[in-house]
Amino acid sequence: MFGVWVPADQAPKAEVSKLTYYGLYALQHRGQESAGIAVSDGSRIVVFKDMGLVAQVFDESVLNTLRGHIAVGHCRYSTTGSPTWENAQPTFRSSDAGGLALVHNGNLINTPELAARLEPGVLTATTDTEVLTALLATRGDDGPLAAAREVLPATRGAYSLVFMDEGTLYAARDPEGVRPLVLGALQDGGWVVASETAGLDIVGARFVREIEPGEMVAIDGAGVRSERFAEARPKGCLFEYVYLARPDTTIAGRSVQATRVEVGRRLAREHPVEADMVIPTPESGTPAAIGYAEASGIPYGQGLVKNSYVGRTFIQPSQTIRQLGIRLKLNPLREAIEGKRLVVVDDSIVRGNTQRAIVTMLRDAGAAEVHVRISSPPVAWPCFYGIDFATRAELIAGNRSVEEIRDSIGADSLGYISLDELISASHIAKDNLCRACFDGEYPIPVEDAARGKHLLEVT
Ligand code: SF4
Repeated sequence: MFGVWVPADQAPKAEVSKLTYYGLYALQHRGQESAGIAVSDGSRIVVFKDMGLVAQVFDESVLNTLRGHIAVGHCRYSTTGSPTWENAQPTFRSSDAGGLALVHNGNLINTPELAARLEPGVLTATTDTEVLTALLATRGDDGPLAAAREVLPATRGAYSLVFMDEGTLYAARDPEGVRPLVLGALQDGGWVVASETAGLDIVGARFVREIEPGEMVAIDGAGVRSERFAEARPKGCLFEYVYLARPDTTIAGRSVQATRVEVGRRLAREHPVEADMVIPTPESGTPAAIGYAEASGIPYGQGLVKNSYVGRTFIQPSQTIRQLGIRLKLNPLREAIEGKRLVVVDDSIVRGNTQRAIVTMLRDAGAAEVHVRISSPPVAWPCFYGIDFATRAELIAGNRSVEEIRDSIGADSLGYISLDELISASHIAKDNLCRACFDGEYPIPVEDAARGKHLLEVT
């Protein structure tokens, strides 16, 4: 998710649609189903979106048609509603007062309650984002901020938002600050909002600060104006540190890479094993594998080669694609692993399919022993705040012990980092983190969310 505002007289030079394209490129890991950009030239908003990766959706000729001085962009991975064109973002609404384009990261948990505020038949898509867009666009002459002051305090769940009308860029973050959102400044004037600091780096923007939980900002020629719509109750997603965020992103002033390496060190101390080589499941297991090797004294090596052009496996929506993805994605380095006792470090086990395939692959390639070490605690509970882990029954740790999981994936031994050690490595206070997928303690009550990802598609 990315947004940019530059002064109108700099629009031709700044090329906001290209800045947004680059920003989305850096944030592609957060969603790979569809991509879209909306731009405003001060009087009209134009939206272009389609299914596919950023580089598949946009080319030079499309970007050249998206002219203006404000833009918002999004790469989607569906957590509410199906992966369809209608559900791709930005979502757009217009009224007599003007247009509104919005992008959203997270997942609302009171969507039906919010949808009930709308006239029947108003919705054209089946996402929580569409509901929010329709509500924020229902405004008088006071602009979307007035609507946001009324709607956001009644909105529950995870929502980092970036939205725009014809002349102003806005950003808002839920009171729990579940998903990240940062503000940056462009060198030649102008502002950027992005899901992660890596999205600022790619366009040369300087990190200014995080958008605070419960804060919204409006950005235009008058600068950045901030106001609170709710008290902050920080509950940042712990899984961002484990898997979601890029390693070169910083959260609360600390690089995600440093946290992951530290988790690997702690994992080695919690679950030591005699072995000949530590290998990562590339690439999300790499930092923790480096830390494990460092703390254990076991040499680090490469035993699996990743085809970088295949997307992250669990982020893709259907089981058929997911299983094919595992086979396409990794290949063992036979000479490196033959006859060796391996420690294989991965970031998490969700359904267990990936790890089972990896263990089998390594044994077939001649590994003498395969010890699996995981740099997160067992994922035993679904996420209702923007990660599509699906149901508890589909999670391998939902109703199995560690020993049963070890047996299921066929490893010689299996060790997960403890929740306390993971939290300690994050350098964030336990009470300020959402850890619900690990401990089942949901910081935002989730009754309505139990109706599922396709709740607006039920007829
Ligand atoms: S449930 Fe897990 S993945 Fe979801 S927001 Fe909480 S920590 Fe993050």
